[in-house]
Amino acid sequence: MKKIGVLTSGGDAPGMNAAIRSVVRMGLSNGMEVLAIRKGYTGLLQGLFEPMDARSVSDILHRGGTILQSSRCLEFREEAGVKKGVEMARKAGLEGIVVIGGDGSFRGARDLSLMGMPTVGIPGTIDNDIGCTDLTIGFDTALDTVKDAIDKIRDTAQSHERCSVIEVMGRGAGYIAAYVAIACGAEAAIIPEQPFDFETDIIKPIIDGKKRGKENNLIVVAEGVGGSVEMAEHIEKVTGIETRATVLGHIQRGGSPTVNDRMLASRMGIHAVKLLKQGIGNRIVAIKNNDIVDYDILEGLDMKKMMPGDIMNMAKILSL
Ligand code: ADP
Repeated sequence: MKKIGVLTSGGDAPGMNAAIRSVVRMGLSNGMEVLAIRKGYTGLLQGLFEPMDARSVSDILHRGGTILQSSRCLEFREEAGVKKGVEMARKAGLEGIVVIGGDGSFRGARDLSLMGMPTVGIPGTIDNDIGCTDLTIGFDTALDTVKDAIDKIRDTAQSHERCSVIEVMGRGAGYIAAYVAIACGAEAAIIPEQPFDFETDIIKPIIDGKKRGKENNLIVVAEGVGGSVEMAEHIEKVTGIETRATVLGHIQRGGSPTVNDRMLASRMGIHAVKLLKQGIGNRIVAIKNNDIVDYDILEGLDMKKMMPGDIMNMAKILSL
């Protein structure tokens, strides 16, 4: 391939810029032309194309969000929308596209490939909820951001002997909740993957902890379970311990990417261009046991990702 496009789609994630930079510079290094497609699939349909040179991705490695901006594009979910996308790409001379995004974006990438525009997906989402990859770009940074916020809330909770219920992002996946529960010393992580019992999983550890002299308690709840405000009210009513809920919200999305996310994005960008250079599309780039690999998009999306079995137990044991 001689001319490729790159776009970011769906929820933004820190490290997307590092991936864009990697795709552009790897493409240029291989003698390709690289077009940026602004605003995700919306921009593809509207022809928002822009030629990229090496300097156009200068000074973005350390920035959160995505310089190409993102969108949610309803039209692209229809067959006619995808067909128009392929036509627009062909008109611009594109022979392949790199899509940086989450599972929704990858379904669009698969449709583009099936309609004749080879497309490769790079997993960029803070939720870490793509089946075929150990890690997604943005997850590590989001963990750090949430860790900072929880550490601050803990200072206050400790000073006032309070219980804190903290709701973190993750609609269908509890990776952020489970990991920070361990990293921040929570009594419990309440996640969508695992049913919970209010009495045994939340109230009992708090009461037992109080008997052992604990002066503050932390419960981390994933957005997909939700109800953190009601949960806090209920804990206070049952235990008599003052309890506050904090919903961290969009603070978790932005910010400068960690070294790990910059490395992951750089490695994945290079791999995506290597695939397109060989004329290979309909693939998701992934990391498995620290190797960069790739999978058929649908197979990759269908792969089940298991929460490491010991993670939930670890939180329980370590909060003793
Ligand atoms: P994410 O990629 O972060 O999961 P979304 O689910 O919002 O975010 O998907 C981003 C975009 O991908 C959507 O706005 C839509 O244009 C496209 N998309 C999502 N699901 C599909 C689908 N099933 N088929 C085709 N395109 C899709």
